[in-house]
Amino acid sequence: MRYFPRPKKDPSLNPGVETTVWACTSRICSCWMRVEMSFEHEPACPLCGEWMTATQKTVPKIINPRF
Ligand SMILES: [Zn+2]
Repeated sequence: MRYFPRPKKDPSLNPGVETTVWACTSRICSCWMRVEMSFEHEPACPLCGEWMTATQKTVPKIINPRF
């Protein structure tokens, strides 16, 4: 029997936060990445190599265990 740790339902958990992300400009590619996770000003898509454009996206909040 496999063990699946179930996440506890925490009412203080933020379901998502709107943040700026890089989104791939290719219509057949849905790749995106957080702006703060990329080190380039105008990154290329790591999957298809197309340009990426800054857009707003609701993403799960980053839980930083160091905080
Ligand atoms: Zn792409």
